[in-house]
This record gives sequence, structure tokens and C-alpha cells, in this order.
Amino acid sequence: MIDTAAFQGKTARFYTLGCKLNFSETSTFARTLYNMGVREAKKGEQADICLINTCSVTEVADHKCRQVIHRMVRQNPGAFVIVTGCYAQLESAAVAGIEGVDLVLGSNEKADLIQYLSDAWNKVEAGKETTEGQAEYHSVRTKDIRSFQASCSRGNRTRYFLKVQDGCNYFCTYCTIPYARGFSRNPTIASLVSQAEEAAREGGKEIVLTGVNIGDFGETTGESFLDLVKALDRVEGIRRFRISSLEPDLIDDDLIAYCARSRAFMPHFHIPLQSGSDEVLKLMHRRYDTALFAHKIRFIKEMMPDAFIGVDVMVGSRGERPEYFEDCYRFLDSLPVTQLHVFPYSERPGTSALSIPYVVDDREKKRRAHRLLKLSDEKTRAFYAARIGQEADVLFEKAARGKAMHGFTDNYIRVELPPGQAREEYDNQIVRVRLGGFNFDQSSLKAELL
Ligand code: SF4
Repeated sequence: MIDTAAFQGKTARFYTLGCKLNFSETSTFARTLYNMGVREAKKGEQADICLINTCSVTEVADHKCRQVIHRMVRQNPGAFVIVTGCYAQLESAAVAGIEGVDLVLGSNEKADLIQYLSDAWNKVEAGKETTEGQAEYHSVRTKDIRSFQASCSRGNRTRYFLKVQDGCNYFCTYCTIPYARGFSRNPTIASLVSQAEEAAREGGKEIVLTGVNIGDFGETTGESFLDLVKALDRVEGIRRFRISSLEPDLIDDDLIAYCARSRAFMPHFHIPLQSGSDEVLKLMHRRYDTALFAHKIRFIKEMMPDAFIGVDVMVGSRGERPEYFEDCYRFLDSLPVTQLHVFPYSERPGTSALSIPYVVDDREKKRRAHRLLKLSDEKTRAFYAARIGQEADVLFEKAARGKAMHGFTDNYIRVELPPGQAREEYDNQIVRVRLGGFNFDQSSLKAELL
């Protein structure tokens, strides 16, 4: 039982690191606490509760987590500090040892965070526990992570993030996510449809489906990702769905064909390639080769010629010899993709990639990243430029008075409406515009109202 009276009038501060999944979860915690009478602390105000949802995707992410925890403790003396997320799962004891931290929850316990908080809070209030010394921590072994914390973030009224899946069974050689988040699991289609309906009732127009390995949806419930897409497509009021990321081997042609004729699934895909060299893909234990990836891209473009395709690429992974990187560059150059998300490889303790002897130094990683980013800019610019003069529907986001409004087209082109034409009533509305030239910083196309 949660004693909500104990939380009335308290304040909380939240900090999220990492992926959309974490943001969606934090937003759900914030909403639950709000319903219990806890409001978010204002800027400069000291909070009673601090919640940090961590990430462990790279060494830099780990370092940033520690920095944020120290900062939150320093800026909110006496606050009850909870740390959860991937870094908390992988390094629970170390995090619990950080001065000022009160409660550390791993990935399995995250789903019951509010109950854990309530129990620990009551102990502190009753004077049974002090906040000094080693904090209380709860985390189970990876193979025992089973819980699923339902999350649909509602921080921004224009776009919702609906968590449809968690965990991963793939164990790519460079990745710690399966260790941090556990095996793949998902809730039922019915429960996700009802969360989407609730978002629509609140006035939400766009939902992004998030997860760790979304295409794996159905493992737990015996349903399929395509069935989920079909069911969501029928949710009235939601005008746009986007899929945050899909593994190449799990995007089947039926799914692509369905999206092409669907009511609300947008011509927008995000696909993690990681490397355009078959040799490197083998070292990474990825479950596809470049031929399969190229087929998927070409099929998407055949069915949806206007589709925006974002691609994740890792540079400088162990085993990426110069000639393999050149293969990767040529492969990406040859494909009709729109944008590259480039990540330098980061060594992660406990991963099997560490046994691959060939190491790329940091300078060379930077050089490779720079070349791919330049290629990405050229591709994105060409994609935008080809649409100048066309009409498009844009979902506009709230803007400060007197400032330009921004929004995205169906196929994810960022659009800017100049301050003179921006109107409050366009906030969270889909408006038909004509796409003009690039704006001053080249990040958007200028819109003209029709
Ligand atoms: S598919 Fe590979 S890279 Fe992606 S989360 Fe799973 S193990 Fe990590």
C-alpha cells in the first residue's frame, strides 16, 4: 500500500539520461507522483525527492550519470535521492555507495519504483533509517529481469512516446543493453491500444513507438508487431504514428507494405545498420548482411518514395580495419537513405567485443565519424532540397510569443513558420503549407501558409 498522504505538498526533481525509453518512463513516474500530490520543483528551488534515470550506453554515459548524481545531491541537500536505469542495474553497489544516494533500483525493480520509494520514505520519516552511508539497493540478475513498466510520456502535448517493448535477446558483441535491461518482453496489444486512446483523449496527435528491440514485439504475448501496428492504426484521434527504431532483420516486407497504405503510420523509418561492411557485421554478431539491408531500404523507397530513412552507424568498432570502413562508406553512399546517426564505438566492460584484437584509436574514430557526418549532411540536404515548392502537412509545436514556430512533415522534414505567420492556434495542429527554401541556420525549410 502506498501512503499518498506522506507525499502531499512535496517537491521532486527529475533527470533522465539516455534513450527515449528512459524519457518515457521518467515522465510516467513524474505523472504518478503528481497524482500523489508531489509537484515538480521550480528552477532554483530545493526538491524533497530527486529521481535520476540513468543510461550506460558508453563510458561517457556512465561518467555523465555519476556527475549528474553528484550534482543533484549537492544542489538538493537533504533530498531523498533515487537512482534507477541501466547504469543503476549494472553498477548498483557502486551507485549505492555515492554519498547522498538513498535508494538504487535495477531494471526489474523499476516497475515498482513508487512502492519502493513509499516504503523507504516511510522508514526515513519514522526515523528507522538515515540517509547516511550505503544506500538501500535492489537489483536482480539479468536473466531474472521480467517486469515491464508501462510508460507513455506526456511531457509534450504534440508528441507522445509509447513504450511497447523492453529488453533484447540479441547480445550483439559491443552492447550491454541486454545485461542492463534483460530479455525481450512486451505488454498486450489491448493495453497499448488503450494507452494510445487515452493519449488521443488528452488531445495527443502523434505517438512514437519506443522500445529496445521493437521488432521483437510479441515474444511474451504471442502477438506480432504487425498486428500491433494494425490495431494502433485504428485508434481515432491519433493522426500520426512513428516507429522509433527497427532492427533490419525484423522489418518484414509485409510491415513495410502495410505502413505504405496505412492511415497514420508515417513514411519515416529509423534503422540501425551499425556497419556497412559484412566483415564487421559478422564481428558484431548482427543478424543480417548488407544485401538484406539494401533490400529493405530499396523496398521502403519503392513502396514510399518520399520516405525519410535514418540510419545508425557505429565507427571505429573493434575489428573495423581501414578497408572495412571504406566498404561501409561506399555502401552508405550508394543507398537512398536520408540521415546518418553516427556513434563512435565505446569499450564496455563485460562485452565479448573486447576479445577482438584489432583496435581503432580515438583520432581515427573521429576522422571516420567526421566523414560519415559530412555524407549525412549531403544526403539530408538533398532530401530537403528536392521537396522545395511542394505542399505538405505539418504538425506544429508550441512556440514562445513572437518566435518562429517549428514542426515536422509526414516524412520528418523540419519546417519553420516565420514569427509573422505563427499563431497560437496552430500549436498541436496539422496545417497544410508550401515548403520554401532553407532557413538561416539550414536546419529547416521555411513554410508558407496556403
Ligand atoms: S539488437 Fe544488439 S545493439 Fe540492439 S539492444 Fe539488442 S544487443 Fe544491443
